[in-house]
Amino acid sequence: MFDAFPEWVKITFYSLAALSVALFVLGAWLRARRYLKARKSGRFDHLAGRFAAAVRKLTLFRSRIWRRDMYAGIAHDLILWGFVVLFIGTVILTIDEEVTKLFFSFSFLRGTIYLVYSFFLDLFGILFLIGLGMMIVRRAFRRSSRLRYEEDAVPQAASMSQIILGDWIFLGLLVVVGLTGFIAEGFRIHVDGTTFAQEWSPLGVGLASLVGATGISTAASWDIHLGFWWVHALGALGFIAYIPFSKAFHILAGFGSLMFSDEKAGRRLEAPVSMEPSGLSQISDFSWVQLTHLDACIRCGRCEEVCPAYLSGLPISPRKLILELSARFRGMGPEKPMPVAGGMFSQEMLWACGTCIACMEACPLQAGRARAAHSGDAPVPGGAGLPGQEPSGGPRQPRKVWQLPGGAGE
Ligand code: SF4
Ligand code: SF4
Repeated sequence: MFDAFPEWVKITFYSLAALSVALFVLGAWLRARRYLKARKSGRFDHLAGRFAAAVRKLTLFRSRIWRRDMYAGIAHDLILWGFVVLFIGTVILTIDEEVTKLFFSFSFLRGTIYLVYSFFLDLFGILFLIGLGMMIVRRAFRRSSRLRYEEDAVPQAASMSQIILGDWIFLGLLVVVGLTGFIAEGFRIHVDGTTFAQEWSPLGVGLASLVGATGISTAASWDIHLGFWWVHALGALGFIAYIPFSKAFHILAGFGSLMFSDEKAGRRLEAPVSMEPSGLSQISDFSWVQLTHLDACIRCGRCEEVCPAYLSGLPISPRKLILELSARFRGMGPEKPMPVAGGMFSQEMLWACGTCIACMEACPLQAGRARAAHSGDAPVPGGAGLPGQEPSGGPRQPRKVWQLPGGAGE
């Protein structure tokens, strides 16, 4: 990787890499601090089975994200698996350069192994860019109602511009990293003068031919290669540092959400948080699993699309609820704790939820759970709290008794 670069490039790169990792660790710690303050949750049973189930839910063609939106599912999986293969490829290259070559004077990326390695990296890099292109087209030109947050799901604590900017920075950084990687490769192959038989990189060799056709000098090609390599490297390091502070954190939280979600959520309600009827107000009132669900949300709007209460015009949006809670717990909005029911959200909004769990079923990361935040204070006559959850003082009664008149879900 650094063979042909001056020493200062290597030193600067590794210094910036250390800074990037330090920022990642700082961001991860800030997130972890919130989880440490949260309520405990006994979801550490059957860890191996939970891990395997989460992997299964993400596996190609069975991914939950394919449901209800095949276009988004294909685009997402192209990005996901492209990213995974490129990341593994970079780790392999680093081990070859900085471990085996440096300490044992031996390179395993040679001959056929190198040809296969370069082919798969190019192939998955192309798929990665196709996936990103599909996502950009979807966001910019094919905007379904699910992606129009501004119309009905704007939280109070997170500004709309922050949300939209965050979405585009996330996509933009990945595009910059992917594109500049290929352009740098094209100029490098042109300088090296290698052919497809020597380097199975279809796109890289194709770009090198284009560079050659311009008649650009070798020296200029090398300088341009170095320029694009730096943009590629800074983009990748910037992305690593950006992960815990952004939507990109769903890469980690999404897996956690799938792994620790309650598979029996549709059949039972969680134990009461407290006997006080004031509801949930601070981080310590939520379990760390619920915080994982909040951090996993990618704002896709599938929960809203299937919510019978929202669709029937009741004043609830499961996405709005998740976005608002997520923003509050990231430190946005008012400083002092605010009760969820009657503070962040009106009682009418929370009691409009029929606890049908459709939002959670539709959520690709099993994060959508509007009913996670409710109070025992029912604003409707006959309100008596949800059976098995927070008591409000009255006798436990069937859903039809406490359900809002006209509300869906029964
Ligand atoms: S559980 Fe509540 S918020 Fe979720 S889909 Fe059902 S009614 Fe809507
Ligand atoms: S909770 Fe799930 S379904 Fe709803 S917007 Fe977030 S990721 Fe999408």
